[in-house]
Order: sequence, then structure tokens, then C-alpha cells
Amino acid sequence: LMQISIPLNFIGFLYREVRQGLADIESMFDLLGVPAEIQDKPDAKPLKAVDGNIRFENVKFHYDPERPILKGVDFEVPAGKSVAIVGPSGAGKSTISRLLFRFYDVTGGAVRIDGQDVRDVTQDSVRHAIGMVPQDTVLFNDTIEYNIRYGRPDASAEEVREAAQMAQIHDFIERLPQGYKTEVGERGLKLSGGEKQRVAIARTILKAPPILILDEATSALDTHTEQEIQAALDQVSKNRTTLVIAHRLSTVVNANQIIVLEAGEIAERGTHSELLEADGLYASMWARQREADEAEERLRAAVEHD
Ligand code: ATP
Repeated sequence: LMQISIPLNFIGFLYREVRQGLADIESMFDLLGVPAEIQDKPDAKPLKAVDGNIRFENVKFHYDPERPILKGVDFEVPAGKSVAIVGPSGAGKSTISRLLFRFYDVTGGAVRIDGQDVRDVTQDSVRHAIGMVPQDTVLFNDTIEYNIRYGRPDASAEEVREAAQMAQIHDFIERLPQGYKTEVGERGLKLSGGEKQRVAIARTILKAPPILILDEATSALDTHTEQEIQAALDQVSKNRTTLVIAHRLSTVVNANQIIVLEAGEIAERGTHSELLEADGLYASMWARQREADEAEERLRAAVEHD
């Protein structure tokens, strides 16, 4: 039994390593904006005058024709407003952000920015107009300063520091022995999930895009970190069209509109209080999250008591 279980474990280990490696390469491409299979039309022009109005018109989408993911999704985010997408795992929330960024083309309907179908304009101009704070930020093996400046390569050292301040990461950086010159990434200082996310927020503040996609981290952050990140996000989303892909509900309470996605369809929409009033899927998700949060609090209190 021993003889066979060791190699199998080892194969499992290799498999996971390889998969992890592939996932990293994928997110690297995303970060660098390298197109997958999407091509510009020969006559594609850049997006014109971006106010930041987003419109999903009866959007249908599948990765695999056998399995529809979005089945006619229709919503609008007026320029400067925020919409949060919530719903069970696998409902298609992150897919919506990928379609807005045009990592894929819709299979029915249309995605428009200021009335312009994203398939008719250059991908470059679409990606220029959108800032993405992803779930898990890829850091370059370089200094933390370089990693923030990536949002706008011609930013001055002063502007990098201002962005870091707004993203609530400046004080942390200043406390590092080498400050902004600290090497980070695989070969340097490893940052926590929350720290990486704040680097991504600082990058986005520098980029100053009219449209923002926030794909929240799925992993639970401690309450203090979560509050800091929320404060940073509030800064960056002020007066910007913001699409929040929310995997937890605590951060969507103030969104102008919440869209509840269930199995690729919009099940409900409204403000937080309207949806609680409606007493449907959102209300039950909210109740469940409250219970989970309270259980976690009790557990934390018990651990601290020991
Ligand atoms: P979660 O809250 O768990 O992140 P989500 O609502 O964001 O979920 P999506 O990431 O949009 O869900 O995925 C929707 C469905 O599409 C899932 O069932 C997923 O397995 C599938 N899917 C996602 N990406 C791909 C892909 N590249 N190829 C094939 N299927 C995919």
C-alpha cells in the first residue's frame, strides 16, 4: 500500500503545481492585456469620449456550447454609478466582468460602452478605459514602487506615493526597511492577499480609468483589513462607473443597484433595502451570511479567550 500511495501523492503534487503554473500564466496574460483569440475588426476605431455608461443587452454566453452560462442578461450601469453583481458560486458573475473587458465575445446580444458595441472598437481602447482590481493580483519581481507605477508608467514618485496613500498601503510600505525600493513578488517579499489587493488599488488609482471592475477576493480577510480595503475602494470608485463582482455581501450594501444572478439569469434587482423587503434569494443569502459572520465572531472570541 505504501509503495503505491507515495507515487500517487507525488503525481497529485506535480499535477497541482503544473495547474497552478498555468493559472499564473493566464493571469499574467490578463494583466498584460494579451488578447487570447479575440481580434480587432479591420476597421475598428478607438472608443469615443468615454463617460462610462455600461449596457448589457440581452447577453448570452457560453464557454462550451453544451453549457450556457449567461442566458439573456440585461442591465445598465449609468455613468458614475455603481452596480454590484451577487449570486451563488458559479452563477456567472466573473464571466460578466470578462465580457465587459472583452476577454471573450458574447454569443448573443451585445455589450456596449457609451452606446458603442465593444466588438466594433479596438480592444486597446476598451482596456484603456477600464481599471480592473482582480481577486488575486499578479506582482512583478521588481520593487513595490515599480509594481504600483505599472498603472501609469510616466507617473512621478510623488504621484506613486499619493496613490499608495489613497489605497491605504503607504504606511505599510514606509515601515519596510527599504521602503518603496523593497523587492516583491516570487523572489522578493511575499505580500498577503490584502496587501496585494491594495497594490492593485493603488495601480488603478494611478491609471484613473472612467470604468472600474472590482472582483472581490473570495478568501476571507480579517475585519480590520477588510475595512481598510473598503475605504480604499470607496476612494477609487468615487465618481467612476463601478461594477463590483461580489463574492461576499458585506461590501455591496451601498451600491446604487444590486443584481442577483442565479444560474446565468437575473433573479432579482434593487437596492439593499428593497431586496431585503422582497424577501427572496438576496434576503436569504444575507441571512445566511449574517449567521456565518456571527459564528466566526464567536469562534474568534473563544480562541482569544483561551
Ligand atoms: P464564484 O463566485 O465561485 O467565483 P462566479 O459566479 O463568478 O462564481 P464564473 O466564474 O462566472 O462564476 O463561472 C460561471 C461558470 O462558468 C462556472 O460554472 C465555471 O465553471 C464556468 N467557467 C468559468 N470559466 C470558464 C472557462 N474558462 N472555461 C469553461 N468554463 C468556465
